[in-house]
Amino acid sequence: MVDKFLSWHRDNPNEVVALEESFKVDLGRVVIKGRIDRAERDELGRAVIIDVKTSTTAVPKDDLARHPQLGVYQYAVMLGAFERHGLIEPGGAKLIQVGKAAFSARAREQEQPPPADDPDPEWPKKLIEVVATGMASDVFQARANDKCRTCPVRSCCPVHDEGGQVGD
Ligand code: SF4
Repeated sequence: MVDKFLSWHRDNPNEVVALEESFKVDLGRVVIKGRIDRAERDELGRAVIIDVKTSTTAVPKDDLARHPQLGVYQYAVMLGAFERHGLIEPGGAKLIQVGKAAFSARAREQEQPPPADDPDPEWPKKLIEVVATGMASDVFQARANDKCRTCPVRSCCPVHDEGGQVGD
């Protein structure tokens, strides 16, 4: 994994600007907090946020454009989370797969384009609003999804037969 990462790092043309850096953006109703593995500046001066993954499986190609974690990183850039580094415009975000999800001898880059290139450039903002509304509501509705199989609370989740209500 280290060899794959170092090989990827050597070939990467962007300038490394920040490593292992925490960020926080307070939007009033919502506070976005996180920690990025790495922030880079591309040749256009835009921020490229990097998340190194040691996963067994890669993110499906069709899910990358709306990958929530990468989208929130890019939205955080737009909100000024990395302004101290002169990074105010998102230029994409990438998962760097170095585990079994990588190619056999090298890292696999999984890139989400900048929101400006998306048919709906506002999608990360809308995602945050939907999540904030859901989390603040009196009722939190569970919906079956592809993460259910490995979910640690599946046995008490009402979506599944084994998680049905046991009391009044
Ligand atoms: S099993 Fe887990 S992931 Fe699936 S709906 Fe319930 S809480 Fe959500």
